Amino acid sequence: MARMKRGKPRRSQPTEKGAKAGKVPKVPKVPKVPKVPKVPKVPRAPRPEKPAGWKRDRHAVRRSRESDALHERAKALMPGGVSSPVRSFSSVGGTPFSVKKGRGCFLVDADGNRYVDYVMSYGPLVFGHAAPQVLSAVRRALARGTSYGAPCRGEVELAQRVVKAFPSMERVRFVSSGTEATMSAIRLARAATGRDLVLKFTGCYHGHADSFLVAAGSGVATLGIPGSPGVPEGIAGLTVTAKYNDLESVEAVFRAHKGKIAVLAVEPVAANMGVVLPKPGFLEGLRAIADREGALLLFDEVITGFRLAKGGAQELYGVIPDLTCLGKILGGGLPVGAYGGRADLMAKVSPDGPVYQAGTLSGNPLAMEAGKAMLDSLTPAVYRDLDAKAARLEAGMRKAAAALGDGIAEKLTFNRIGSISTLFFRPGPVESFEDAKGSDLAKFRTYFHAMRRRGVFIAPAQFEAMFVSTAHAPAQIEYTVKAHKAALAEAFETSPGCVPEPGSDRADFPTTQT
Ligand code: PLP
Repeated sequence: MARMKRGKPRRSQPTEKGAKAGKVPKVPKVPKVPKVPKVPKVPRAPRPEKPAGWKRDRHAVRRSRESDALHERAKALMPGGVSSPVRSFSSVGGTPFSVKKGRGCFLVDADGNRYVDYVMSYGPLVFGHAAPQVLSAVRRALARGTSYGAPCRGEVELAQRVVKAFPSMERVRFVSSGTEATMSAIRLARAATGRDLVLKFTGCYHGHADSFLVAAGSGVATLGIPGSPGVPEGIAGLTVTAKYNDLESVEAVFRAHKGKIAVLAVEPVAANMGVVLPKPGFLEGLRAIADREGALLLFDEVITGFRLAKGGAQELYGVIPDLTCLGKILGGGLPVGAYGGRADLMAKVSPDGPVYQAGTLSGNPLAMEAGKAMLDSLTPAVYRDLDAKAARLEAGMRKAAAALGDGIAEKLTFNRIGSISTLFFRPGPVESFEDAKGSDLAKFRTYFHAMRRRGVFIAPAQFEAMFVSTAHAPAQIEYTVKAHKAALAEAFETSPGCVPEPGSDRADFPTTQT
């Protein structure tokens, strides 16, 4: 590069003199930005109190410093330190662990502890955590953007898969959660029938919309509250309840509210009072009553959809509802819900009809691709595999309980269908929420913590399901059975001599996916 000549400056280069003469104004000094005060560090809280009934176990190998510290920080920022109540361990006591990562059937917490996971994000993860086919679908989609606010191919392709799997869903609308799906579906049902009342079953959970926070299951049941403050009486009063598996109670509600019930909403297999199967004839009875009374039948298949069979509980039981709600598996672990049904009903949904319902992130392109990858992997062999693994787990757990003696097996009830199950701490049968409520929650609590200390994570509440995935290999199932035996012994305070010591059975913790 040619060197610049020294000497007289060129015109374009303002001299100081020139600037003084006002030719080129001096750039005003930018005032100093005042220093932002440092956010004070949240002090590390003292170690939280151990839950009632917690016994120090010298063999326990769990570390929890990081999780405890994260939870303390979280509590200062979020109600209960969580984004959803059940995660707070409020019904079992203790401090929830914070998850660092999940892979296959394992979760790893912030302290590096590893758990065989049977929560599986409360249902969506049929193939376990970080399923490769879902991850690569999301990775591919990610490069094309995260949200469009306009239609995309993925929606059409996922909708095609949904209507193929669920023939009763001639049209489908995607939303972002199960709650949105059920909330929107009953709006549609009310509009279609011109009636206001919603009939639901005690202990069934359909998300947290106002109309459903009445005698609800899942977290609402766990907290032991009948409903929720903030739901106006006028709205709660539009929801009437009947007893699950009790057709006579349904008839009684219809008699009391003749011509006023818009929709009969039900989990075709209840999974939020713990798993409770419909008795033979129950679902058929609901269909017949709804038809006779001019009400719509809504199957909430947010848990059962794609889990019990590709076409959900309606395929398995052969009972066809007017409206269906989906979620969880549909999004492959990303936030997706859907509602759908007969074309004439769905024609009432905006913009085809006047029933308004919308969503900024509905039909999200990443979630649509995750859902497609998930549904495309659900072959008949997958359902056989899930059932075989869950059956092996059930058999092992029953055998272990029987081996403990002391009549322990008779004090328990194991309800299972396909890959979902619940071990109730009470004698059977458990056929309704009224039955489930009779469970010994103190024993469940001890059992939960004993399982957790041995590196097995089940839902921290009696009224939830245990989810098996295809990623649970025989080694992990066998380990779970051993942990279960030891945990039962703790819960029932039987002789520790008959069960493996907690420290020693950690030694054969199955760390590899086989
Ligand atoms: N319906 C059922 C049967 C559910 O189990 C749930 C959640 O667990 C919902 C609806 C609500 O779904 P979400 O939590 O995605 O809002």
